[in-house]
Amino acid sequence: MNEDSERLSRALGAYLGFACGDALGATVEFMSPKKIQRLYGVHRDIIGGGWLGLEAGQVTDDTQMSLVLGQAIIDYPDWNIRAVADNFVAWLESEPPDIGNTCRRGIERYRDRGELFGPPSADEAGNGACMRNLPVVLATLNRPAFFEAWSLEQCHLTHHNALSDAATLTLGRMVNSLIQRRGDEVCRQHALSLVEQFPEFRFDPYPGKATGYIVDTVQTVLHYFFNSTDFESCLIGVVNQGGDADTTGALAGMLAGAKYGVEEIPLGWLSILNRQVTKQIQKQTHALLQMNCF
Ligand code: MN
Ligand code: MN
Repeated sequence: MNEDSERLSRALGAYLGFACGDALGATVEFMSPKKIQRLYGVHRDIIGGGWLGLEAGQVTDDTQMSLVLGQAIIDYPDWNIRAVADNFVAWLESEPPDIGNTCRRGIERYRDRGELFGPPSADEAGNGACMRNLPVVLATLNRPAFFEAWSLEQCHLTHHNALSDAATLTLGRMVNSLIQRRGDEVCRQHALSLVEQFPEFRFDPYPGKATGYIVDTVQTVLHYFFNSTDFESCLIGVVNQGGDADTTGALAGMLAGAKYGVEEIPLGWLSILNRQVTKQIQKQTHALLQMNCF
């Protein structure tokens, strides 16, 4: 493979890995590790169900919000935050299977009052902004200043919080370094800088909480990402931790997919992932990568 096709493999790995993690984790979202063990032994197949009663291969808000954000970037390559917000409104009004409270509040604030962000808030430290940022990463691989500005603007539509901001930028930089093959050390250094800046993110030793609080989410994702050596075991470890398992699964799938490439995603997972979603992700990944000049 040449450099372009390797980069494409890792970018597709990140986006499809993200969706697979969402679909895999949704089955056990909000369960405890004990309950998962009782029901499934080890949960390792994309089978749908869960509290949302999903079909096998169906994704949730994590992937859906990423896709509508990605579409706004493709439609407005110079960035248009109102187009992003308008797409979120249209998505909200399509009655999606799930939506976080903080996301709903921010989207409704924009819809009803036209506001693109609220005041900084300690209550907005959920993972809802961080979880949907991958399209920004893919569109700005060689444009770090744009990556930061666009990421923060899209985050602040719903989450105006320093922990959410720092986590979003960190995971984005990690994915970028993996897709661009900067080396494992560079990737790890981004995670360590986050912990240096905000010690609450420390993930070693792993505290074992996997809630939707951005700190718990990131600790879970980083713990399993750095303590696994292949795509499949990384995702299985994360989702069997339960809690916000679709979101931790998605973010772990994003990192592991960027590291190992799309070829390492189990075919059994890829083949069951909703066909429409797979097609949209493939199309978006190509279009978003083309916005960079390598
Ligand atoms: Mn979800
Ligand atoms: Mn979730």
